[in-house]
Amino acid sequence: MDEKLLREYRCACGKLLFKGSLFTGTVEVKCRHCRDIASFFGELERSGRSPLAAFAD
Ligand SMILES: [Zn+2]
Repeated sequence: MDEKLLREYRCACGKLLFKGSLFTGTVEVKCRHCRDIASFFGELERSGRSPLAAFAD
């Protein structure tokens, strides 16, 4: 997998939680550093498009 496609997902405290490419859906990760739970949304959710729209055209 191309490293450049990977985004870094960090907690508000700055700790790197995971690297990946999140297309759709939601991921919740509990930070082992500050024990906060961080939520990350897929690119489609973030841009306000319905996930289904990607398959419509
Ligand atoms: Zn944290």
